[in-house]
Amino acid sequence: MKTNKNIPCDECNDGFYEEVCENYTAITSDDNKVLVRNLRFKRCTKCGDEIFSPQSSKIVDKTIADFTEQLRTREIELLWEDLGLDQTAASEALGLGAKTLHRWLKGTQYPNRSMGFYLRAMVQFPEAFQWVKERAWRKKNRLSQSNTSTTFPELFSQLEKEQHNEASTKLEALRNFNPVKEFRRISVK
Ligand SMILES: [Zn+2]
Repeated sequence: MKTNKNIPCDECNDGFYEEVCENYTAITSDDNKVLVRNLRFKRCTKCGDEIFSPQSSKIVDKTIADFTEQLRTREIELLWEDLGLDQTAASEALGLGAKTLHRWLKGTQYPNRSMGFYLRAMVQFPEAFQWVKERAWRKKNRLSQSNTSTTFPELFSQLEKEQHNEASTKLEALRNFNPVKEFRRISVK
């Protein structure tokens, strides 16, 4: 197995790759550092370029997956089943591109750490999923987030103005309202 001990480096074309076995620090997609203990890989004696066998890569991937509590393909399938919609509808509801889920299920890409947490929460709390699905935050403030604003910007600003005026009028009426005066008027009658 030591036959190709002297692979020339294709980075610097000067050194050779030398097999090392040491603690290796991998960087996750979220910029977290993960320590992989006693990893075997090759490093150029001159420029320090590192190469990994498929087996070593697997060990790194596995360590990162454990550290980030990564969702496995099967878990992702189950999550989507639990969401109770077909895959496309559930992806749409969660704001994911249709291809993203496909990649996750194929195992060519994984949800990152925070996305994994988010997905787990969505399944654990159906009302939260419902809330996201409905984009409920848009309902909070009248028309401001509806499509009207983008489709008809002029109409929207007009509506907003009217709404604002209406609110000002009500506020004005409230300020001028004197409960004592009102009471007297009624009692006289
Ligand atoms: Zn090199």
